[in-house]
Amino acid sequence: MPWIILDRDGVINYDSDDYIKSAEEWRALPGSIEAICALKKAGYNVAVATNQSGLARGLFDLDDLEAMHSKLQRLLAEYDANTVYAIDAIFYCPHLPEDDCACRKPKTGLLDALEKEFEVSLAGSWLVGDHVKDIELALAKQCKPALVLTGKGKTCAKLLAENPPLSNTPVFNDLLAFTTELLTKDQLNTETFTTAPLKGKIS
Ligand SMILES: [Zn+2]
Repeated sequence: MPWIILDRDGVINYDSDDYIKSAEEWRALPGSIEAICALKKAGYNVAVATNQSGLARGLFDLDDLEAMHSKLQRLLAEYDANTVYAIDAIFYCPHLPEDDCACRKPKTGLLDALEKEFEVSLAGSWLVGDHVKDIELALAKQCKPALVLTGKGKTCAKLLAENPPLSNTPVFNDLLAFTTELLTKDQLNTETFTTAPLKGKIS
């Protein structure tokens, strides 16, 4: 079963420069719940890999993080009256940038942990993010990167455009647009998008 890796803030839920600190502040972006359910329905395993330095900063604690993720899972479970959908795994980095840990994206620790726990290779899997760190992580793990323009995506798109080979990253308006494209094209691959240069897409 193929895996899809999602960043959380700015991809699944609204991001904030003040951090998302509680389940109350955690609000799904339009279409993201629908998109995840569609991926699950199509047979994908869906994992979240997210930097949560707000933990180390003391802005929220593990109970708060658990409550955010319970809210996400509840929204997924309630989306379809006939099927309970859920994210298969959520991996988070609780550290500060200066902690120099092995798991803060773009370091590969979160995905290494997933591969170990589920005894899979993520090479060739899609990784969807709104940040340069996500794209760098995808390339480090031989995943296929996709950028969404929600969250910090628009700022990131400009950076990527100036930095080949990152500029080859396919860009989508949001997670639902990515998902629709993936599920309507049997073999969605990065080559599909090289005819539509990033700069053309964001201008
Ligand atoms: Zn870490």
